[in-house]
Amino acid sequence: MILGVIADDFTGATDVASMLVRAGMRTVQVLGVPQGPLPQADAIVVALKSRTIAPELAVQQSLDALAALRAAGARQIYFKYCSTFDSTPRGNIGPVIDALMQALNTDLTIACPAFPENGRTVYRGHLFVGDALLSDSGMRNHPLTPMTDANLLRVLQAQTPQRVGLLRHDTVAQGADATRAKLQSLRAEGTRVAVADALSQDDLLTLGEACADLPLVTAGSGVALGLPPAYARRGWLRPDAQAAALPAVGGAAAVVSGSCSQATNAQVARWQQGGGASVQVDPLALHEGRTSPADLLAEATASLAQGPVLVYATATPERVGAVQQALGVQAAGELVEQALAHIARGLVTRGVRRLVVAGGETSGAVVQALAVQQLQIGPSICPGVPWTATRHGEAADPLLLALKSGNFGGPDFFREALAMTEAAA
Ligand code: ADP
Repeated sequence: MILGVIADDFTGATDVASMLVRAGMRTVQVLGVPQGPLPQADAIVVALKSRTIAPELAVQQSLDALAALRAAGARQIYFKYCSTFDSTPRGNIGPVIDALMQALNTDLTIACPAFPENGRTVYRGHLFVGDALLSDSGMRNHPLTPMTDANLLRVLQAQTPQRVGLLRHDTVAQGADATRAKLQSLRAEGTRVAVADALSQDDLLTLGEACADLPLVTAGSGVALGLPPAYARRGWLRPDAQAAALPAVGGAAAVVSGSCSQATNAQVARWQQGGGASVQVDPLALHEGRTSPADLLAEATASLAQGPVLVYATATPERVGAVQQALGVQAAGELVEQALAHIARGLVTRGVRRLVVAGGETSGAVVQALAVQQLQIGPSICPGVPWTATRHGEAADPLLLALKSGNFGGPDFFREALAMTEAAA
């Protein structure tokens, strides 16, 4: 094992894992702090849900994950956060960086959320989302982590007593040697966390080479693209062209959708327009006992013989609003998540082996119902959403899972995703 990644949320973990796979590292994602021994892989990504929990808890979980990754032999540790640096003045990015640095006994790391391919760039320590400063982007209104300052030095310095400094783009543009030298001089001047500028894929490659020997890298998923080539140059990694290969899996296919995003509404509509079979989950009918998860499961199962089926609660904002008004936001969400998770588990029991799930919370509920603990990361369906295979004991046959957070994917996402598994099977 070369790289151990600690990710502060579930879909972020999948995102960084798919970057590593793309660059030829065989990668396994573990859900939650690892409990048992870790599998064989070039990289292991531990998916925590620590972005907005209490800082002390986030630190503890991150240290537990670190201990497991070090015990498995990780040469380098990567703390992955969001490319919009989602955090509050209390953390959790700063406190987790401090704790990991202390545990790793290191006095220098970088912080770089840049992901130019997705429009996230850092210049003179300021984070841009597309053409706008972070503080002028939609992130300023985020319900949990509103980001009202684009100056990452200021944002991070508010979260850590360690000195935060700047690795400027003019140095990064000169290449890896200049960058490495600058990091050393920043360290000598007392900087402990260097916010790194990056405007392009080339900058990520430079940072990867310059930082491959640091015990700890902290970043969004972008920097992960630059590390595998650096490992290869050091002779640690032979990039595997088959890193994204998943076991061929036959069997029935289904889509379960609890996301109500604009993108998912369009995907559901497109599936139905294309003649795909579907079963609608009506939260009010469930609540009033006019239908039940068992009834809906039976309906979906009956339709499987003709081909893939879509089970969806996806609805327009107006309909969701009406349901939430009647049942309460929390209760409506839980009712739907539990129903979809029950149906997903039932479908798997009845032979579904290729399952697409739409919705971040919905994915969490389904993965929990299926008791999934590890995912092998496969090819990307769209940026940030790979196919994955569940890993059970030797004998159990794997299940292919695609977990899509709300706004990802074009209108044909469901069909495109399933088509990829047919080609592989
Ligand atoms: P996204 O990734 O798009 O945010 P999530 O699955 O995270 O999707 O969140 C969607 C939430 O909306 C879930 O809690 C889900 O149970 C709930 N939900 C889905 N359909 C409905 C509906 N028709 N009415 C009310 N709530 C719904």
